[in-house]
Amino acid sequence: MRRPDASVDWLEVLPCCIGEIRIMHRAAGSFTVSHRDDTGLEGLAVYRDADAAIELARYDDAGRYRSLKTAPNLRHGWLFVLDRLEQAREVIEHFYPGRAAAYQTWRSGELRTTPLRETLGRQTGMYRASAKISERQADELVGTFCRSDGGCLRTILWKRDAAGASPSTLLPKVKFDPEFDQTGRDEAARPLLCQEACNLLVAAARNVVKGGQ
Ligand code: SF4
Repeated sequence: MRRPDASVDWLEVLPCCIGEIRIMHRAAGSFTVSHRDDTGLEGLAVYRDADAAIELARYDDAGRYRSLKTAPNLRHGWLFVLDRLEQAREVIEHFYPGRAAAYQTWRSGELRTTPLRETLGRQTGMYRASAKISERQADELVGTFCRSDGGCLRTILWKRDAAGASPSTLLPKVKFDPEFDQTGRDEAARPLLCQEACNLLVAAARNVVKGGQ
């Protein structure tokens, strides 16, 4: 696919969506950041300090801990009103650590991806066993663990192995397309890119090998 122009700031054109978040211009030159579902709603809890996002990112609407920051369970009900766009970047960084930088690097054509087998193969200690996962088990695990509806909103860029096998035959092709809005809202949205299997997937692979799943 054709990458967006890397010389243009990814946050320059507003409104802009990334994951479940929408960033917008507001009157008098300020900016708002909110959950995409909450756009235009009244009665949201207003924050002016970007660091408040650290706590908001921690739990979902039901108060459950969010171990995966890119899971599709971002809590609702908040609105950041910010004077500077740099503050909006800080909010995004708290909600989706490292994702803006990964997107920028990808736009420059310099994002390195790592095949799943390589990631599993370099594990040490208790996670070394994850490398023993079979092809069928890996196909099923990635197909369920990484799915956008209920698993993770990232767009997968890595392959299963060095030969370029698909991460999972159970995932739709759009799961690997940075232009696709993984939230299913069918809006223009910046992707949350996944360049390498995360620690949670590695741990899940170990559980499969150990018969814990
Ligand atoms: S491996 Fe990537 S896509 Fe899968 S759950 Fe982890 S961060 Fe999400």
